[in-house]
Amino acid sequence: ASEKEAALSAVPSDSPTIFDKIINKEIPASVVYEDDKVLAFRDINPQAPTHILIIPKVKDGLTGISKAEEKHCEILGRLLYTAKLVAKREGLETGFRLVINDGPDGCQSVYHLHIHLLGGRQMNWPPG
Ligand code: ADP
Repeated sequence: ASEKEAALSAVPSDSPTIFDKIINKEIPASVVYEDDKVLAFRDINPQAPTHILIIPKVKDGLTGISKAEEKHCEILGRLLYTAKLVAKREGLETGFRLVINDGPDGCQSVYHLHIHLLGGRQMNWPPG
C-alpha cells in the first residue's frame, strides 16, 4: 500500500530524482552491474528475493517509458539486454519477471526510467 501511496503522490516531472544521486555516488546503493551507459542496483524495498533496478545513466528525457522517442531505441535495447545479463548473473535460471511501471495508474513513483528485475520466487498473474 505504501508503494501505491508513494506512486500516487509522486509528481511526474523531468527534475533530477534519487536515482541521479545513486548514479553520482552521492548516496549508497548495492550496485550489481555498471558500464558507461547503464547502472543496475538492488531495490531498497525488495518485492522478491532478487529485485534489481536497471536504469540509464543519462536520463535524456526518459522520465518513463511513455516518453520514449525513436532516438532512445538503442538505450532501451541496452537496458533490456542488461536485464538478461543480470538475471543470468543472479542465477535466475528458472525464470524471472521484468516490469516497467508508468505514470500514476502504473504505480510509478520515481520519474527516471527503470526496469524492475524480479526473481527467486514464483510470480503470479495478473499483477496487482
Ligand atoms: P513503485 O515505488 O510503485 O515500485 P517505481 O516503479 O517508480 O514505483 O519504482 C521505484 C522503485 O525504486 C521502488 O521499487 C523503490 O523501492 C525503489 N527505490 C527508491 N529509492 C531507492 C533507493 N535509494 N535505492 C534503491 N531503490 C530505491
